Amino acid sequence: MGRIIFHVDVNNAFLSWTAVDLLKKGFKIDIRKIPSAIAGNQSKRHGIILAKSPVAKNKGVQTATPIYIARKKCSNLRIFAPDYELYKKESDKLYAYLCSYSKYVERYSIDECYLDMSNYKFNKEEFIKLAYKIKNEINSNFGFTVNVGIANNKLCAKMASDFLKPNRVHTLFKEEIKDKLWPLPVHKLYMIGEKTAKRLQILNIKTIADLANSDFNFLQKYFKNSALYMYEYANGEDNSQINYIKEKNKNISMSITLPIDIQDKDELKSILLNLSKKVAVRLHNQNLYAKTISITLRNKYFKDTQRQTKLYNATNNYKEINKTGCFLLDSLYKEEYIRYVGIKLSDLVENNEYQLSLFDENNNDNGLDKVINKVNSNCKNKQVKIVPASYISKK
Ligand SMILES: [Mg+2]
Repeated sequence: MGRIIFHVDVNNAFLSWTAVDLLKKGFKIDIRKIPSAIAGNQSKRHGIILAKSPVAKNKGVQTATPIYIARKKCSNLRIFAPDYELYKKESDKLYAYLCSYSKYVERYSIDECYLDMSNYKFNKEEFIKLAYKIKNEINSNFGFTVNVGIANNKLCAKMASDFLKPNRVHTLFKEEIKDKLWPLPVHKLYMIGEKTAKRLQILNIKTIADLANSDFNFLQKYFKNSALYMYEYANGEDNSQINYIKEKNKNISMSITLPIDIQDKDELKSILLNLSKKVAVRLHNQNLYAKTISITLRNKYFKDTQRQTKLYNATNNYKEINKTGCFLLDSLYKEEYIRYVGIKLSDLVENNEYQLSLFDENNNDNGLDKVINKVNSNCKNKQVKIVPASYISKK
């Protein structure tokens, strides 16, 4: 199959994410189903429409127009303020989820990711099946819908996910470019702005097919350096790579600002346990192990103190993460009021870099237990029994 890229695009992201959040908070109406919009600065009449529901769209409400114009077109328009913190969180959740399907995930924008899926040795039908699985899981796990585009490069995957919306899977493989891409009007092509589209129209280039089949030298005369990518994109060509974050540069962190300042070490430790579980889930989802653990405490005067330690062996075990975090907390905490607790895992490594240690008691399927099981199975019927050190020490 060669290279296979998925482009995952959240349908109507801001409005959907706000809708899901409102439903979670007990709001009775799904704002995706009524005339509604997300718009900034409602108090000033000049706030701009950032997103609109399909019903509002049908009544003529357009993105990037002022609220008062939108209201003229749709008098019963319900307007909700954007919540960027929520959008960032939803975007992070989506990204972390997609990372469980590929090591090569590019976060292209707050609501779009590219995934390089070439490692799966699948046929076409299996890739389509997998895309449906991802699409449906996102809907059932997070409550919003996405489009997934499947293709042999990033450009075609992005063009495919933009076909019919919402909640769809589309393919645009090399052999489908003529039938699916070429009939589209030229302004639909990625990177062709309104201005360029108008200039192309004047040159009698109206569809993507017109552009793909035009004379390159002719194009270059009018569009200079841009002619090359225009010509290549129209022909469905794109060799750009997935711009993923290399694991070595990554870290995973979770923090919480407490509703009240706390001066109780046990309480802080129970908060830390909760955070440890959450970061461990994120490690598992990305098939990673952490070598360095650090914690941050912020006191009521907003002063941060930090401590970190490097483990002999990388871990993804929440108990070990928590144990290390508590050890750091013990050495850091000075009986003062704390308003913020954070834990960060860094020096992340992939599964296969994990070194087995004989004394790694926290990983039951690894290290000592594994060795012991092996030795014991080799010693069957020989009256030899080796038990873990931890077992002896508990006796
Ligand atoms: Mg989108």
